[in-house]
Amino acid sequence: MSEDTLFARIIRREIPADIVHEDEHVLGFRDIDPKAPVHVLFVPKKAIATIDDIQPEDAELVGRLFLAAAAFARREGIAQDGYRVVMNCREHGGQSVYHIHLHLLGGRQMGWPPG
Ligand code: 5GP
Repeated sequence: MSEDTLFARIIRREIPADIVHEDEHVLGFRDIDPKAPVHVLFVPKKAIATIDDIQPEDAELVGRLFLAAAAFARREGIAQDGYRVVMNCREHGGQSVYHIHLHLLGGRQMGWPPG
């Protein structure tokens, strides 16, 4: 399991990011190339490469990503209108950084289905 992904480097503060949330287990920071007025990535501090690598003992940690995203959405004022959370897996899913991350997208109407 790689500890040297881009997001591991952001967690270690080796690369700057606009951090909006931090707790013992989770970091949240704004996407550098936002696809919506609000676009934040929530990552576990533990390095997990893909959804396929999540173990049963990580279930609570993965739940924490959703709790952090929902709390931030309320703080940011987008919860009432709604938002989308997305986690991409590997090539066909569109994953480019192999450290799992929950995208929070909001502030505009989303389309469906995604491309
Ligand atoms: P994925 O395609 O893996 O689901 O999402 C990776 C996300 O990371 C993309 O939305 C991309 O814009 C974002 N990203 C890539 N490089 C950086 C960076 O250096 N800083 C931040 N904050 N986001 C990044």
